[in-house]
Amino acid sequence: MPGPREPLRIATLPTPYLEPGAALLRTLYSEVCGTDVHLHHGKLDVPFPIIPGHVSVGVVEASGGRLKDINGQTIKEGDTVTFLDVAETCNNCYYCLVARQPTRCPSRKVYGITYSAKDGLLGGWSEAIWIKPGVKLIKLPKELTPETFIGGGCGLVTALHAVDMAEIRLGESVAVLGTGPVGQSIIAFSSLSGAGEIIGIGAPRDRLEYAKKMGATATLGLDLPPQARLEAVRGLTGGRGVDVVIEASGSPDAITQGLDMVRDGGRMIVCGHYTDNGAVEIHPHWQINRKHVELKGCWGSRYDHFHRAVALTARYGDVKPWRDMVSGRYPLTSADQALKAVENQTALKALITPNPSLLT
Ligand SMILES: [Zn+2]
Ligand SMILES: [Zn+2]
Repeated sequence: MPGPREPLRIATLPTPYLEPGAALLRTLYSEVCGTDVHLHHGKLDVPFPIIPGHVSVGVVEASGGRLKDINGQTIKEGDTVTFLDVAETCNNCYYCLVARQPTRCPSRKVYGITYSAKDGLLGGWSEAIWIKPGVKLIKLPKELTPETFIGGGCGLVTALHAVDMAEIRLGESVAVLGTGPVGQSIIAFSSLSGAGEIIGIGAPRDRLEYAKKMGATATLGLDLPPQARLEAVRGLTGGRGVDVVIEASGSPDAITQGLDMVRDGGRMIVCGHYTDNGAVEIHPHWQINRKHVELKGCWGSRYDHFHRAVALTARYGDVKPWRDMVSGRYPLTSADQALKAVENQTALKALITPNPSLLT
């Protein structure tokens, strides 16, 4: 991606030197996420040119010495792996050591986003990915197909982080604002957490149908006016509103609508605003203070989210149809079309397949 709004371009980069702890992956799948559309619109400050693709699955082709997972097991050439797409978190700053919020570490770099193509093969829309020393690899267990994991993709880890922050108790009601890949995985994880009523709110219609397969007990379309949606949510929750709202839409209006939907004393998590989509007016007295609402923002993912996302998709991939979220596969030469399909919402999840010959 040479720059904002420019057509994508195919380039050849040198094979990286693999120092101890480094590896080279042959890419099976990388995904197109909403963030890639925002990158192409120039809405994030990143070092163009970049190789997009943050969450990916690949096969280990070569390594600089022995690679180990967190259990001490060797990761071998030929293993199918994913990796935490974050590197260089410093473990040496206020956010890492005192606040213990490493996703806000100023040294943190993200594959496919904040690395430049000038730094090397550090993005997934590429035939090969350079795993730098210290980047955590996770072997996909044999019961987990790569398509199931990448079908959830980066939405999985964001959703898991948000659902953790919401601390859903058994039987609690949840409204999920937004039915893109993040919202769909939030619905799945809320359902696995034992939530009661799970209301998926979004568009278009086929995404609402899919939300039911992920565990939504009710859905509301954006064709309903906001007031009608609010009344419907209250109607499903004894007039009180939901215990938990999780916003994953990226719409500023969803913030004020969510604060109206949450019950007094409830919780609201915001994880859909990864770029600046503008401001919205909220009423501090009526919507926050008097309601005694807990409002939390959720940024980025840590290793524990990736680790558990792999374990959860391995265990529940048959129950929650993450792999059915994939609606298009594109070789590198068609990456522009993949980006368009996600931008136009004609694909819920588009995958980039740089090495089609490796896929069976
Ligand atoms: Zn993403
Ligand atoms: Zn740090």
